[in-house]
Amino acid sequence: MKKYDYLVVGAGLFGATFAYEAAKRGKHVKVIEKRPHIAGNIYTKEVDGIQVHQYGAHIFHTSNQKIWDYVNQFADFNRYTNSPVANYKGEMYNLPFNMNTFNEMWGVRTPAEALAKIDEQRQEMAGKKPQNLEEQAISLIGRDIYEKLIKGYTEKQWGQKATDLPAFIIRRLPVRLTYDNNYFNDSYQGIPMGGYTQIVERMLDSDLIEVEVNTDFYDHRDDFLASADKVVFTGPIDQFFDYQLGELQYRSLRFETEEKPVGNYQGNAVINYTDAETPYTRVIEHKHFEFGKGDKNKTVVTREYPADWHRGDEPYYPVNNQENNQLYAKYQELAKEQPNVIFGGRLGQYRYYNMDQVIAAALKTVAKEFDK
Ligand code: FAD
Repeated sequence: MKKYDYLVVGAGLFGATFAYEAAKRGKHVKVIEKRPHIAGNIYTKEVDGIQVHQYGAHIFHTSNQKIWDYVNQFADFNRYTNSPVANYKGEMYNLPFNMNTFNEMWGVRTPAEALAKIDEQRQEMAGKKPQNLEEQAISLIGRDIYEKLIKGYTEKQWGQKATDLPAFIIRRLPVRLTYDNNYFNDSYQGIPMGGYTQIVERMLDSDLIEVEVNTDFYDHRDDFLASADKVVFTGPIDQFFDYQLGELQYRSLRFETEEKPVGNYQGNAVINYTDAETPYTRVIEHKHFEFGKGDKNKTVVTREYPADWHRGDEPYYPVNNQENNQLYAKYQELAKEQPNVIFGGRLGQYRYYNMDQVIAAALKTVAKEFDK
C-alpha cells in the first residue's frame, strides 16, 4: 500500500483547493512545494501591517457566486474596487477607458461628444483590414488612446513592437460611456483582509494533509511518484515530460520591491506606466489594497518589469499562440498515457487562469475524481 492517496506537486491555489477537497473526503494527501512558502503566486507577506503581494498585484473578482462563497470560507474580503490609473509621461488618465479618460484626453464632457471623438479618430483605419496589433487598436479606439495608453504598455509586456504583434491579441476594447473607474465588470470583487496566504493556510490545515516546502519534485521524482496512488501535478507540463517534444514559451516578470519612509507614495494601489521609455509596466503600492492599513509613516512599493523567459526563470504567463497551443496539445496526448497523474493549474494546463478560474478548474477536477 502506498503511503498517501494523493501527492500534490505545488502549493498554489489549484493544488491547495484539490488537497482541501481530498482531505474533506478522508483522503491522505502530501503536498510538496519547491518555493520556501505555500500559496504559489498569490503569496502575500506582512511588512509592518502591510500585506505585500510578492508576485504582483492580485485582485479577486468573479461573477460566479459559488466561487465567491467558496473563497469566502477561507478569508473575509474587503470591498476593494480596482481602479488603476495610467501615467503617460506625467499625464494621468483613469482606466479602464471611460468618460473620465475621455475628459482627461480630449476635454469632452458627454457620451455623445466622446463617441463623436472616437469615431473621428477611428476614421484613420476606415475600410482597411487591420494587419497587426497597432492597426487593430487604432481601428477600435483611434490613435490618441492607442499612442498614449496602449502602445508602450503592450510593447513592454510582449517585448515586441506593436506592428509585429498579431491583431487578434486585442479582440475588442471595451469603452465605457459612464464616469465609472471600476476596472472589472464582475459582480464580486475584493481583497482578503490580512492577505491571501491565509486562504491557502486554511485550505491545507488538516490532519490528513502533510506539507513540505523547499522541496522540488525533480530532486526525488521516482520516490515521490512511488509514495502515492495518484499525483496532482501543478508545475509546467513540458518539464514533467523532460521537454521531449520541445519547450513551451512563457513571459516572465521581475519585481523590484522597496520600502519608502512616507505614508502615501502614489495615492493608488496600481499605476500603469504606459510610455515606452519607462522600463516597468506598473507600480504597486500595497497598502492601498487594504485602504491604507499598516504603518502610517511607511509604505511598500513594487515595480513590475516584464521579462523574456528562459528555462529556469519563473514562468508567469503562458504565451498561448497557435504554435504553443499545438505543442501543449501534444503534451496532453502524452499525459493521457499517465492515468495516475492529473495535470492542473496555470502551468499544468498551460493556460492563463484568474484565481476564480483556477478554483473552478480545481473543483471540476475534484468532481471528476470523486463524484464518479
Ligand atoms: P501557482 O500559483 O503558480 O502554483 C504552482 C506552484 O507549483 C508554485 O508555487 C510552484 O513553485 C510549484 N511548483 C512548480 N514546479 C514544482 C516542482 N517541480 N516541485 C515542487 N513545486 C513546484 N488572478 C486574479 O484573479 N486576479 C489578479 O489580479 C491576478 N493578478 C496576477 C498578477 C500576476 C503578476 C500573475 C502572474 C498572476 C495573476 N493572477 C491573478 C493569476 C493567479 O496568480 C493564478 O490564477 C493562480 O496563482 C494560479 O494558481 P496555480 O496553483 O495554478 O499556480
